Amino acid sequence: MVTYRIASIGGDGVGPEVVAAGRLVLDAVAARDGFSIEWPEVLAGGAAIDAYGAALRPEDLEAVSACDAILLGAVGGPRWDDPAGRVRPEQALFALRGGLELFANLRPVTVLPALVPSSPLRPEVLAGVDLLIVRELTSGLYFGRPSEQRDTPEGRVGIDTLIYTEEEIRRVARLAFELARGRRGRLTSVDKANVLATSRLWRVVVDELRPDYPDVEVNHQLVDSCAMLLVRRPSSFDVLVTENLFGDILSDEAAVLAGSLGMLPSASLGERRTVHGRFGLYEPVHGSAPDIVGQDAANPLGTILSAAMLLRWSLGLGAAADDVESAVRAAIDAGARTADLLPAGGDGAGIRVVGTREMTAAVVDGLGSRIGVAS
Ligand code: NAD
Repeated sequence: MVTYRIASIGGDGVGPEVVAAGRLVLDAVAARDGFSIEWPEVLAGGAAIDAYGAALRPEDLEAVSACDAILLGAVGGPRWDDPAGRVRPEQALFALRGGLELFANLRPVTVLPALVPSSPLRPEVLAGVDLLIVRELTSGLYFGRPSEQRDTPEGRVGIDTLIYTEEEIRRVARLAFELARGRRGRLTSVDKANVLATSRLWRVVVDELRPDYPDVEVNHQLVDSCAMLLVRRPSSFDVLVTENLFGDILSDEAAVLAGSLGMLPSASLGERRTVHGRFGLYEPVHGSAPDIVGQDAANPLGTILSAAMLLRWSLGLGAAADDVESAVRAAIDAGARTADLLPAGGDGAGIRVVGTREMTAAVVDGLGSRIGVAS
């Protein structure tokens, strides 16, 4: 029997609650399909600061790096919020992304028809939305140095540095081309080439890759107009690729389309492969939601859909990933809604308000038993 090793990092706030949900679903798939999962548990973020005084210990980074993949909840919370603090929870995320060279963050956004009333956008705008944002994750403005405040004769000055090497652009763009090739063959590269030198290099490098992907149609879009089109004509996008800061903002904007932040999964991938697939870190897009912690109120579906991405990308189990996504759709179609998914106008007919655990159970039920069906 194959045994996969998946590092389990609950983190802070609702993180442990939603990771428990993701693990239940993956364990149910394992029991159904005849494999097993070992779950080494690692503390990160505020929990690790409390226990060890560091957001992620080097030995824990090494331990997760030896696994097939990582399932993460979220880190952070008011207890560790001091922006001037020497150790901060989000240092764990930077250590994981940078230390494991996970340079591409994939955020798929689809709109389940049953959740259209949960989105603030009009139904006709949401029809057919199925896009994937690929955000560069380990460079750009978030990592450029210098990044500091200085006292000058003219007063205080803040400085950040936006820098990209051509190789950093090429590797994430190449992955985006490959992803577009496996989808509807359309790639939108998002930049600010009318103003920024890094964006002009970004365009050149993306264009240089075109001959390798003649089946992919590429267009360049300025980030400001892209932000507008994402809410006006979101169904016109297939794959979007962009640098770190633009991707951070656009992917949160796109979250509105899906009805709730709690629905959105993500995968962070690099080039490293294990015997089973690409090594990756999988986490919901949302944060630690301290306002609802411990209430069985967190929507687990973003994490469960992240677990589906884990099956597909890191374990090579695409059919099982499809099954998890179908089970999520079935639970929603059957009327199950965590509080964040309630339509603006009230709970409506056929809608059942459920907690984290009941939503997870509905997904597990929907997975069925392949063994049972076959026998
Ligand atoms: P948040 O995503 O935690 O919460 C925003 C709002 O969405 C809240 O009202 C919350 O209750 C709701 N929400 C979030 N996830 C939900 C879910 N699964 N189900 C139902 N409702 C959900 O963002 P925030 O409030 O800006 O940040 C809270 C903390 O999380 C901060 O410390 C922040 O630094 C951290 N954070 C961490 C990550 C991460 O670990 N990747 C990402 C974003 C924010």
